[in-house]
Amino acid sequence: MSAPTLDAPPITTMGPIADAIRAGEMPGRIWVYSNYHCNLACGYCLTESSPKSKRREVDRDTMVEIARQGAELGFTGIGVTGGETFLLPWMPEAVRAMAEHLPIVVLTNGTLFQGDRISKTDGMDHDNIALQISLDSHLPDVNDMARGEDNFRKVVDCVPRLIEKGVTVRIATTTEGDLDDPALDPLKEFVATLGVAPEDHLIRPIVRRGRADELNMGLTAEAKDIPSELTITADGAFWGSFGPTVSNGRLDTDLLLTRTILPLDIPANALLGALQGMPAGNDAALGIR
Ligand code: SF4
Repeated sequence: MSAPTLDAPPITTMGPIADAIRAGEMPGRIWVYSNYHCNLACGYCLTESSPKSKRREVDRDTMVEIARQGAELGFTGIGVTGGETFLLPWMPEAVRAMAEHLPIVVLTNGTLFQGDRISKTDGMDHDNIALQISLDSHLPDVNDMARGEDNFRKVVDCVPRLIEKGVTVRIATTTEGDLDDPALDPLKEFVATLGVAPEDHLIRPIVRRGRADELNMGLTAEAKDIPSELTITADGAFWGSFGPTVSNGRLDTDLLLTRTILPLDIPANALLGALQGMPAGNDAALGIR
């Protein structure tokens, strides 16, 4: 889920959020869950996403406003995740609009860019935009076992075409094994053949939340283990992008900060308060002091 930030702009804003980010006390990136439905239904999905999932959409204008207010507060980047983000027809235009405010990375399974539909990414050959596409194995059968039939072919088809268009592409691999397992070497070599730089290949563990928890997969993570990036959903603001997971059809609220998402300074200050060990605000439910 997490990715390195794009080149962060210098923070020129004054105020407690900007100061905390500048001092390294608070992460500079905001995450937004644009939606929870997906055309796939991966075995380890944190959000139990599938075509039948409740959508829980953040609308286009709210997404752009989060980026605008985030830049004003001193945040230095934004990530968009889901669900499959590009199921939302307005997503391509919204990504370009958000990139006017902050560097943006958009997580996608890459399956909706087949054939002419790669035009969804027109205008994303932009210094402030990166697409992060999932690929779990260099072996088609192994990859597709976790991510769905024909997933490998679709990803391997679209990545070089995106790069040829000038779009920055990152590959994200989710693994149950050790992150430095030599067994991942063939995958790293394969990803390089697609035109993706080694520093743009992110390998991360399965986190035992959502569907992975139901299947007893992955690492058990507490709040202290989860990067404390401010994460916005239609249902509220959370501690970290691993916060707003779904288990047995219900949104997990153990890492909920506030039900309010805008103005953004309300959840941002709730996160800062939690990080600084101050008493949380009235609508904070996160039990971290
Ligand atoms: S892991 Fe990603 S691609 Fe797979 S079901 Fe979940 S949201 Fe969809």
